[in-house]
Amino acid sequence: MVIIGGGAAGLMAGATAAKRGLNTVILEKMPRPARKMMITGKGRCNVTNACFELDELIANVPSNGRFLYSAFSAFMPYDTMALVEEQGVPLKIERGNRVFPVSDKAVDVVDAMVRYARQCGAVIEQGTAAALVVEDGRVTAVELENGKRIDCDAVAICTGGMSYPQTGSTGDGYALAQSVGHTVTPLAPSLIPLVCSNHFIPRLQGLSLKNTGLRVLDGEREVYRDFGEMLFTHYGVSGPMVLSASAHMKRPEQKNYRLVLDLKPALDEKKLDLRLQRDFKENNNKDFINSLSKLLPNKLIPVIVGLSEIEPSAKCNSITREQRLRLVQLLKHLTLDVTGFRPIEEAIVTSGGVNVKEVNPKTMQSKLLPNLYFAGEVLDVDAYTGGFNLQIAFSTGYLCGENIGGEYHD
Ligand SMILES: Cc1cc2nc3c(=O)[nH]c(=O)nc-3n(C[C@H](O)[C@H](O)[C@H](O)COP(=O)(O)OP(=O)(O)OC[C@H]3O[C@@H](n4cnc5c(N)ncnc54)[C@H](O)[C@@H]3O)c2cc1C
Repeated sequence: MVIIGGGAAGLMAGATAAKRGLNTVILEKMPRPARKMMITGKGRCNVTNACFELDELIANVPSNGRFLYSAFSAFMPYDTMALVEEQGVPLKIERGNRVFPVSDKAVDVVDAMVRYARQCGAVIEQGTAAALVVEDGRVTAVELENGKRIDCDAVAICTGGMSYPQTGSTGDGYALAQSVGHTVTPLAPSLIPLVCSNHFIPRLQGLSLKNTGLRVLDGEREVYRDFGEMLFTHYGVSGPMVLSASAHMKRPEQKNYRLVLDLKPALDEKKLDLRLQRDFKENNNKDFINSLSKLLPNKLIPVIVGLSEIEPSAKCNSITREQRLRLVQLLKHLTLDVTGFRPIEEAIVTSGGVNVKEVNPKTMQSKLLPNLYFAGEVLDVDAYTGGFNLQIAFSTGYLCGENIGGEYHD
């Protein structure tokens, strides 16, 4: 068997196939496998989600979640957790059921997966798959970029998506699949930072906000609501909450998406107004711009003052009720205009991929070529943040490994 790609899905597929006694080569283009897994969870690797209900797992996969029913059933998050812990890497569960290694080191999970694949008998070989050789309706060999050819009984394409290409995931699998007749649904970034057009954005670059409320509006319709951390960049916004929000947005350049930030979610409008009255009283004779330091981070103050249309040098005791109420509205509903996603290279996952209608969900086998299989992000499935994307790779990799070569045994 040749498993193309030694990422999360390929290592799992290769290990599972080799464990069944199959002669298995995992072909990885990078000098070391699973480079993308190394950078997951900001180097801590959110390896899965401790969500043990099938329906809940599927609900976290907005595109083609039902396709994963058999894969998730066959290999659940607790199976991932058991496997990693059996490899001597203790895990912990954090907010939102996110599972991380206790060491907070992604490398420990990567080493565990590589070790497991080798223990099962898989051979990891460096090389870049360039083409599939098809004879009499079957894949008979994989041709490598260096001209070498590996003959095989079956092939699994586990090449991942096309984001963070420096990790090796450059989207090669899409072309390989297309070359043998598969269709690939449109590729787009998901879990991606957002570009905003507001003039004040560059001034906020580097500002990170915690405990912020976020609503995403498409015109007047609310499409997402969250609470958490975000980061301003020179082009717009990023950070965990923004990345999650992006998975609920489609083609922002053609839509009218707005982000509405609640900078003071712990205070309702009335309480915030009382707080401002108190602050202004304490700073009675001071300039307005010097009265907000307890309420807002420094970087935000000149921006909010500018948007409030209150003179920065106005004395606090001269601020009218109307001006104050406008300020309350601004702090509870700071609006950012979204004009697009950042480029796909910066996405956490690629949405779109090999059309799942052409893949058997019970085996991960191609419906076009009997000895071709797929697993992981190369398929048209992508999930929200929280460890679900790696779990998709592990579950589909497992199912692929359990079934590859099976066309001979049926
Ligand atoms: C910054 C970042 C953080 C992330 N954090 C998390 C997280 O914390 N939790 C989570 O669940 N998900 C996270 N993800 C998503 C997760 O990493 C992916 O969904 C997952 O790695 C997909 O696994 P895969 O095996 O399908 O693909 P990949 O992990 O991308 O592996 C594909 C492999 O195939 C190899 N390859 C490609 N083409 C060829 C070829 N022609 N020949 C040979 N080899 C080839 C590549 O070098 C690569 O090693 C994150 C992604 C990014 C970019």
